[in-house]
Amino acid sequence: MSDRHTEVLIVGGGPGGYVAGIRAGQLGLEAIVVDGRPLGGTCLNVGCIPSKALIHAADEFAVAVEQAASCPRGISVADPDVDLARVVAWKDRIVARLNAGVAGLLANASTSVIEGWCSFVDGKTVDVTGVDGSTQRISADHVVIATGSEPVELPGLPFGERVLSSTEVLDLTEVPSSLAVVGGGYIGLELGTALAKLGSSVTVIEAEGRILPQYDRRLTAPVARSLQAMGVEVLTSTRATGLTDGGLAVESADGAITVDADRVLVTVGRRPKVAGMGLAHLGLTMSGSFIAVDERCHTSMRNVWAIGDVTGEPMLAHRAMKQGEVVAEAISGRPAVFRPEAIPAIVFTDPEIVTAGLDPDQAQAQGLEVIVGRFPLSANSRSMTLGADRGFVRAVARADDHLIVGLQAVGHGVAELSAAFGLAIEMGARLEDVADTIHAHPTVGESLAESAMAALGHALHI
Ligand code: FAD
Repeated sequence: MSDRHTEVLIVGGGPGGYVAGIRAGQLGLEAIVVDGRPLGGTCLNVGCIPSKALIHAADEFAVAVEQAASCPRGISVADPDVDLARVVAWKDRIVARLNAGVAGLLANASTSVIEGWCSFVDGKTVDVTGVDGSTQRISADHVVIATGSEPVELPGLPFGERVLSSTEVLDLTEVPSSLAVVGGGYIGLELGTALAKLGSSVTVIEAEGRILPQYDRRLTAPVARSLQAMGVEVLTSTRATGLTDGGLAVESADGAITVDADRVLVTVGRRPKVAGMGLAHLGLTMSGSFIAVDERCHTSMRNVWAIGDVTGEPMLAHRAMKQGEVVAEAISGRPAVFRPEAIPAIVFTDPEIVTAGLDPDQAQAQGLEVIVGRFPLSANSRSMTLGADRGFVRAVARADDHLIVGLQAVGHGVAELSAAFGLAIEMGARLEDVADTIHAHPTVGESLAESAMAALGHALHI
């Protein structure tokens, strides 16, 4: 076994790990990123990027089907069809392009990459088994754990054959005639919606009383209505109990039934990836099943750091990336901390949901007295020209000084408002700042200024 030493060893090349690698290199640190999978982690290979490619293809197909059926905007389309194998091949080309892009960025930063799996010997030493079977021991002054997360399995529905995780569903080459989605969180609904648009008969099974239970009901109601309009059946307060011949057994207070299910997609959550790599003998302080870190992403062990999904919620790529930057800066001696005012979150359903900061109920639960402004997209001209004017934009601000503490929206294309939402909250904007900013016309973004004006009591276009 060969030995090697480096200043910074980063275990995992997902959005957290590869960004830490780029930033470490930029800061002049000698760094190595190790990953047994292609660079980019869950996000790039089996998460954010492939799912959004599939969603986009499904949206395009759904528009073609709508045009063919009723020609609502005067465009005629004859007999649209979809070849899922070609969609997947297109998705794979995007992923490959991004894999190569990340490799190039790390090379430009002079950060090395090793393809292999790490096993911890101690807090500063790992054994790496290369994907080519080679082994080497690497010691480092600093170790960054960026091992991410993995899908949670249900005891009665182990992954395999008809039961798929989000990973396998992204590689289907044929649209299943019927699909049961177990778990009505964002991953299940995004993928379930895409497959419904591609022609699958989809049933969503959710144990809680409603879909997207962690989101405010006013934001999720338009999504629930749209699922219904698409023909997606949503069974709430219902649990999946096991497979039957060609179906899925489910149980609710009303009794047990079988749902048609050619395939079953289980998306009941993700858990931090901490097992099977010798991490347990480091004795790191944990926070539940996550590795506990301080504001600099430092763990309970000296010069051992952790970032991304392995450190807690929200398990999102942009949180991991920001922590990757912070950790590299902190290791280089800069006074960096991860202390965001808000981490925007998006649900890429139809319509989309975007949130940043506190919703009205959360603000009240924190004892804040707030004023709320809501602007309907049915009054936004751009939304009308896009043929999609369901939903609203909402501003939540402190009643005393009008500091914006939350911004949310539901509607077509509102994901792109996340930049403005994050910026406004991070910069401590007040309602007046947003209301007085000239927003280009005609854009969906004008609704943000209008929601601030609505909170101040003088929206212009409602
Ligand atoms: P990961 O991306 O999980 O990367 C960890 C890496 O560590 C992996 O490549 C793994 O191979 C490697 N690794 C693990 N153990 C070892 C070891 N022992 N040795 C070497 N390498 C190891 N987030 C968003 O922000 N927006 C979205 O739209 C979005 N959509 C998603 C859709 C789906 C279907 C899924 C599953 C996730 C989605 N996410 C989304 C979540 C996002 O993918 C994760 O939050 C993000 O990838 C976390 O980054 P990370 O660097 O912490 O971990």
